[in-house]
Amino acid sequence: MLKLPRKRDIAQRFPHGQAVRLSPLLQRVTAPNNGMLTGPGTNTYLVGNNEVAVIDPGVDKTKHLDAVMQAAPGKIRWVLVTHTHPDHSPGAATLARETGAQVLGHHIRLQGKRDKNFAPDAYLDDGDTVACDEFTLRALHTPGHAADHLCYLLEQENTLIAGDQVMDGATVVIAPPDGDMAAYLESLRRLQTLGIDTLAPAHGDLLSPANAVLQAIIDHRLEREAAILQALRDTGEAQTALQLVKVVYTDVPSLLYPLAARSVTAHLHKLVADGEAVATDDKHWQPA
Ligand SMILES: [Zn+2]
Repeated sequence: MLKLPRKRDIAQRFPHGQAVRLSPLLQRVTAPNNGMLTGPGTNTYLVGNNEVAVIDPGVDKTKHLDAVMQAAPGKIRWVLVTHTHPDHSPGAATLARETGAQVLGHHIRLQGKRDKNFAPDAYLDDGDTVACDEFTLRALHTPGHAADHLCYLLEQENTLIAGDQVMDGATVVIAPPDGDMAAYLESLRRLQTLGIDTLAPAHGDLLSPANAVLQAIIDHRLEREAAILQALRDTGEAQTALQLVKVVYTDVPSLLYPLAARSVTAHLHKLVADGEAVATDDKHWQPA
């Protein structure tokens, strides 16, 4: 599930406290919250040179936010968040206070783990844009990983600031109640229709060509779904998500089983909606 690069490679490619220029309009500063779920750390992206939009300020750590402010070639006007998981949005308030920037995000409030202090100045919905002379960022509501998830298309470079819609070298966790597998697959397919060249994920490096990467994720999810359904049919009796993980996720270390069980639960909800499985109680499923 998670394939972490070697420590030395991470330090070179994702230096904490230092901006990496990725394109004429895009820079990245990686927050110092590297770990099992966050890979090298959360990527904070800076868009623009004259006026700047910061996407996913990450953790509220002075050294990180100072590096973001130092990297900004012009005034930071906007702080955008892809979603309100605690590794993405907590730096927003501090950054806004220091720069006078406007904080923007989606209006949906997550039910599970979230940054409870997130207080945007205004909401963005699907299709809304943040624009200046130099760039246009188009917000795309992409529920699946989280119900409030937005991706931002940098139209001038056909690059999608993708948040946790995709990860470099790892599979995105889809954990109900905020995670929804059917919505996630739909969001991936929708992104494939937009002619995007490059994906800029919140964890790890740039990914391209975008549509091939998105297709590989869709294929992987559908393979897992088929394997889960097969495992349900093979046993013929009601199973928990964790029991199914042990059969299906043989390629994953057992340390990650509880995490995988959350994605399996998301798959099971989709299988129920598709008429392929039924829930016998709130913890057990059997084939339809
Ligand atoms: Zn997340």
